Amino acid sequence: MSGSGSSAVVVGSGPNGLAAALVLARAGVSVTVVEAADTVGGGVRSSDLLETGLIHDLCSAVHPLAQVSPLLRDPSIGPELERSGLRFATAPVDMVHVLSTNRVATLHTSPSQTGAGLPGQDGPVWRATFGPLSARADAVADEILGPLVHLPRHPMVLAGFGAGAALPASWSWRRWRSPDARALFAGVAAHAFTPLHHPASSAAGTLLTVAGHRHGWPVAVGGSQRIADALIAEIVRCGGSVVTGTLITDLSQVEDADIVLLDTSVEVAAGILGDRMPSRIARAWSRFRRGPAVAKVDFVLDGDVPWSSGDARRAGTVHLGGTADDIAAAERDCWGGRLPDRPFTLVAQQYLADPSRSRTVNGRRLNPLWAYAHVPAGWDGSARDTFELVTAQIERAAPGFRDTVVDWVASPPSVIEEHNPNYTGGDISGGANDLRQLVARPRLGPHPYDTGVPGVYLCSSSAAPGGGVHFMCGVQAARRALTVL
Ligand SMILES: Cc1cc2nc3c(=O)[nH]c(=O)nc-3n(C[C@H](O)[C@H](O)[C@H](O)COP(=O)(O)OP(=O)(O)OC[C@H]3O[C@@H](n4cnc5c(N)ncnc54)[C@H](O)[C@@H]3O)c2cc1C
Repeated sequence: MSGSGSSAVVVGSGPNGLAAALVLARAGVSVTVVEAADTVGGGVRSSDLLETGLIHDLCSAVHPLAQVSPLLRDPSIGPELERSGLRFATAPVDMVHVLSTNRVATLHTSPSQTGAGLPGQDGPVWRATFGPLSARADAVADEILGPLVHLPRHPMVLAGFGAGAALPASWSWRRWRSPDARALFAGVAAHAFTPLHHPASSAAGTLLTVAGHRHGWPVAVGGSQRIADALIAEIVRCGGSVVTGTLITDLSQVEDADIVLLDTSVEVAAGILGDRMPSRIARAWSRFRRGPAVAKVDFVLDGDVPWSSGDARRAGTVHLGGTADDIAAAERDCWGGRLPDRPFTLVAQQYLADPSRSRTVNGRRLNPLWAYAHVPAGWDGSARDTFELVTAQIERAAPGFRDTVVDWVASPPSVIEEHNPNYTGGDISGGANDLRQLVARPRLGPHPYDTGVPGVYLCSSSAAPGGGVHFMCGVQAARRALTVL
C-alpha cells in the first residue's frame, strides 16, 4: 500500500496514534502527529513526577501485550525500535496473586513452572489449558488484535482461543479446584474491568495469560516513555513530525490533510466531527458505554515493599484481590457504581526488572512503586482517599508498608481524566469491555475505524481491539485509511 504524495494528521500521540503515524509514514505519507499535552506518549508517558530523580510510569507500566503485538514482531520495525533504545526486561517472577497475607499463587513465563506451583491436578490442568495456546501466542495475537469480524488466517487457533474466551470467567475458573489457580486466573481476567460472571469475561484473561506465557510480563527499560520515544524516532526518520500543546476541537483545524486519524475517545471524536457524521454512525457511537475507573498512587519507597510472600518480593506485578469470589464481588460492585471495601488492586515493581529505576540518596535506596485500584466510574474520592484505599490494600499483604513510604502522589479518576481526555471518568480502557463492545467497537462491521466522514478514522482504544498497549487499533486504522486512499 503506497500513500506517496498524500498527507495525514494524527490527532493524539498515544501508542495507537504513534503506531498509526508510523504505518502511514512508512507507506510514504507525509504525517504530522498533533498532541494536546505538552509531552508525547499518552498512556506511555513517564516522568520524574516527585522530583526525586526516579522515573514513574504515569499510566501503563507492564507490557505483555506490546511484546506479542504484530507491530513489534514485524522484522522491519521491531529491530529499528530497539536501535532507538526500546528494550524490555522482566523481574525474576512475572506476577504474584495474593489471596491472603500468607497465601499467594505465582505466574511464571513458563506454563509448566506455573503449573508446578499449583496444588494437585490444577498444575496439569493449567498446562493443558494454556500450554498449547501460548506455544501459538503470536498466531493468537494476529487473530485477536483486530476487528472481531474478519476472515481468520489461523482458524484452528482462533477456535481454540474463542472456546475459552467466550465463557464467563466464573465458569472458566471452575476447571481448577484450588482457590489458588482460580484466583490467579480471576485476577488476570479482572484486567478487563468487566463483571466476571458476564459472557466473554474470560477473553482478556485468556489473552493476557497466553501473551504472558510467551513473553513474560515485562517493563520498558528506562520507563514506558521509551516506547513513545522509539516510535517517534522512527516516525521522524521516515519524514514525519510531532507537534505538542495543540488541542484539536474541530475538524476544520486539520481538514487540509488527505487522511485524519483520531487517537481520541469516541466522545471527543464525535465533538471534533460534529454534524459532519452520518446520523446512523453518530447514533451507534452515542450508545458506546464507558467502564469502571482506576484510582492510582505513585509512591517513593525507602527500600522494598515488606511483602509477607517471598515470591511477591521478586515479582514485577502483584495482584491484590483475595479469592476469585472476592475479586468477582469487588468487580461487580465497581460495575454497579459502589466502591468495594477491598478493591482489586494492581502493583508494579518495575525496578525489580529494571534497576535503572532506583536511586541511592544519602545512603537510602529509593524505589518507585506504581499501584492502582479498580473503583466505580467517576468515583469522587480525594487524593488522600485514593492514597488510603491503595495503601490499605498493600498493607494487608505487606504489614509495615506504610513506614517505607517516603513520598507519594495520588490520582483519583478526575485527575486521571484531566491528565488525558481519553480516560473519561477514569476509565483507562477506552470504553467498557462488555460483550457488545468486544464484538462491535465502537460499532459492528469489518471497518469499525470508519467515522462516515471521508478520510477520517478513529484509531484509539475506543476502536477494535480495545485497551492496552498493543498498538493494533492504530495499525489497523492506518491500514484501512491506506486501502481507501
Ligand atoms: C493508570 C493507567 C495504567 C495502565 N496500565 C497499563 C498497563 O500496565 N499495560 C497496558 O498494556 N496498558 C495499560 N494502560 C492502558 C493503556 O495506557 C491504554 O490502553 C493506551 O495508552 C491506549 O492508547 P491510545 O493511543 O488509544 O490512547 P492514549 O494512550 O490515551 O493517548 C491518547 C492521546 O491523545 C491525546 N488527545 C486526546 N484528545 C485530543 C485532542 N482533542 N487533541 C489533541 N490530542 C488529543 C491525549 O492527550 C493522549 O496523549 C494503563 C492506563 C492507565 C491510565
